[in-house]
Amino acid sequence: MRPNKQEIIDMLNTRGEENLKALFARAYEVKKKYVGTKVYFRGLIEISNICSKNCYYCGIRSGNPNFPRYTISMDEALQEAKWALDQRYGSLVIQAGERIDAAWTDFITELVREIKEMSSGKLGITLSLGEQTEETYQKWFDAGAHRYLLRVETTNRELYKKLHPADHSFENRLASLRLLRKVGYQTGTGVMVGLPGQSIEDIADDILFFYDEDVDMLGMGPYIPHQDTPLNHLVDGFDTQEALLLGLKLIAACRIVLKDVNIATTTALHALHPGGREKGLLAGANVLMPNITDPKYREGYQLYEGKPGMDENAVQVVEELQRSIEAIGETVGFDEWGDPKHFFRRQQQ
Ligand code: SAM
Ligand code: SF4
Repeated sequence: MRPNKQEIIDMLNTRGEENLKALFARAYEVKKKYVGTKVYFRGLIEISNICSKNCYYCGIRSGNPNFPRYTISMDEALQEAKWALDQRYGSLVIQAGERIDAAWTDFITELVREIKEMSSGKLGITLSLGEQTEETYQKWFDAGAHRYLLRVETTNRELYKKLHPADHSFENRLASLRLLRKVGYQTGTGVMVGLPGQSIEDIADDILFFYDEDVDMLGMGPYIPHQDTPLNHLVDGFDTQEALLLGLKLIAACRIVLKDVNIATTTALHALHPGGREKGLLAGANVLMPNITDPKYREGYQLYEGKPGMDENAVQVVEELQRSIEAIGETVGFDEWGDPKHFFRRQQQ
């Protein structure tokens, strides 16, 4: 049965310590029942900050000239993938700005193939490389990628228009999401919350959209402003507490409503609070994407102000993360893909 919109609105409007505790506890019960308390790591490689798009909220948009652009070489990316394999991460996420040229398509195809070969098929691969043609999605799928993340950012068409230049289209994005599913990917989407001009009702509609599109995975998070974007007037006075809370309520509401999907506890939560990702797990998330990109590139991938991990020692980070996850009573699914249960359920229908 389609979830009730008013109930979702009520969850998102939850206020007061006791009520919030009750919401997160309810979401955690649903999580335990449907997906368990194992956290799956996906090593995130931010492979390139070159982007042909100019989304008004994003620090690496094409219209920002204030930092150098990079693309990680095949060898370096393979070394990072090998490192993740050695740390017993089950999967990788390969993310970048959006590029749609043939050289890029071929580079990613080759990279996916080589990672599969190097890891004897052990590393699962999620891609997050924006809108592409069906042919390109198919090529990357055939090379061995089996999950894809493409956030729709907001399902409010009017708001989408305000946050993007005229040639960026919500309908194209939605069509791409459906192509991914047609090709056979485990398909993930998501939105940002706390966007200027976004209402609680809009967010409830986003959650109903996830339900209607029957998505397998969610990667969502609070919007955080960036100085070098057209929305930079929002940097001063940005309320990190409010943003964090809304991000957590979003996770809880999605877990309660969608039950067996994978939900990532995203870097944006970490940016707002040092324990933000653990809070996300306690609100219902079950996937964590440690950033394994060589720290020398991190300066170039500042999507928003205060993005963490500028010079982390990665091995130390894994140990710390494992400890903090065990401290909240969960375990890490080392060497496991941790595919979304929802994907297998919809295969059976
Ligand atoms: N270029 C690809 C795309 O847009 O699908 C993948 C990389 S893009 C950097 C990944 C996500 O970053 C976007 O979907 C967007 O939701 C998020 N993002 C960009 N700017 C952000 C901001 N200021 N605050 C929070 N998230 C942001
Ligand atoms: Fe490019 Fe993605 Fe940023 Fe938009 S959100 S500017 S597509 S990297």
